[in-house]
Amino acid sequence: GELPFPRSLVLLGATGSIGTSALAVIEAHPDKFRILGLAGARNVQRLAQQAARHRPPYLAVLDDAHAAALIPLLPAGYAPELLIGPAGYAAMAALPQAQVVLSAMVGAAGLESTLAAVQAGKVVALANKESLVLAGDLIRAAARTSGAVILPVDSEHNALFQAMAGHNGHALRRLILTASGGPFREKDRAFLEAVTPAQALRHPNWSMGAKISIDSATLMNKGLEVIEACHLYGLPVEMVDVLVHPQSIVHSLAEFEDGSQLAHLGPPDMRIAIAYCLAHPERLALDIPSLSLASLGSLTFASPDVEKFPCLQLAIHAAATMADCGPQGGNGACVVLNAANEVAVDAFLAGRCTFLEIARLVEDAVQSWRQSGPFGALDLQTTLTLDADARALALRRLDLLPAGLPT
Ligand code: NAD
Ligand code: MG
Repeated sequence: GELPFPRSLVLLGATGSIGTSALAVIEAHPDKFRILGLAGARNVQRLAQQAARHRPPYLAVLDDAHAAALIPLLPAGYAPELLIGPAGYAAMAALPQAQVVLSAMVGAAGLESTLAAVQAGKVVALANKESLVLAGDLIRAAARTSGAVILPVDSEHNALFQAMAGHNGHALRRLILTASGGPFREKDRAFLEAVTPAQALRHPNWSMGAKISIDSATLMNKGLEVIEACHLYGLPVEMVDVLVHPQSIVHSLAEFEDGSQLAHLGPPDMRIAIAYCLAHPERLALDIPSLSLASLGSLTFASPDVEKFPCLQLAIHAAATMADCGPQGGNGACVVLNAANEVAVDAFLAGRCTFLEIARLVEDAVQSWRQSGPFGALDLQTTLTLDADARALALRRLDLLPAGLPT
């Protein structure tokens, strides 16, 4: 049945870009929500500010040192229960009183708490796309068993969810994920050779966390979203297309067998998708100005340039491998793609590799998986081990740069 209001919420990744936008939605509708738990990793200052405003009975941080740093920042007379580390995050996600869990940590670190929320049968507002990339089959199987409902926060997948509501999934011909093309859409390869982290962090339309901003610049973000869409909608990768749309107004389209394409349009503001998930099936009023198509004048579309942005193609190939039930198939390719990408993005941000080396590190990781596996559908432990091994391999390759990798 439908959840009544006020709803009891857990926010994982509360201190990040999505977490902060979620709190803005919640604070605009204080009668609709109660915050049961807030989880952050290292930004104890921001977590303390959020906690002081909402006084949730549970808080979570990465480790004991951050818990010790948090406690003196909390207001006098407020003594929440402190949960620590991955086990603490998972416990918060599964709290019996929690009704809706926002999964908005960044990277593979979000997998175990997302899975815990799904296993506990929660409504999961899912922003952490990496958890689906790593273990989409395990998450979907857990949701079938527990009855958990997964609502996509990622704007493209949220757009598709809205476009498909009330339609028969069998009549679907394909999904079309729109992509802004990132800050380097019109740049040539010579420019990409010398890109700095500051340039790559400056997204034209969206304000986001560092990791997803770099992923948007390499188009890996769109590749991860193709894999995410396959899992969310149970589709083969051949049914998921990518369309470059620099204005980020059309957030994606669903095409049906009769030739209709249904799109979702709106200003590029994540509060729309977040509010849709937190209040579903209700819609909340938001302080977002009307989209004026007349002042925009035109919307443009183009095919993605996979030569210039190889990460997109690498992810699409990994998605195809995932569906391959032969001896060389399975989700291992997606696991290592994601792991190597996280290492490479961190290294790029730290000035330890170039922008173009991100794709090379990822390709190298997938190549080495093709030689050694593990193949087939991986269980959680094998997935986590493969993730750790792929990170270690990518870190060793990084030590060999700049001379080591072939170009
Ligand atoms: P961010 O970097 O702004 O925030 C990340 C959050 O995760 C922070 O709260 C941080 O404390 C927490 N975190 C970091 N490392 C952690 C760890 N090891 N364990 C537990 N928590 C940890 O990131 P973001 O932009 O808010 O993105 C969060 C997720 O949402 C990502 O998966 C991203 O792909 C997805 N997403 C974001 C946007 C966006 O507009 N920002 C849009 C679509 C999807
Ligand atoms: Mg997106």
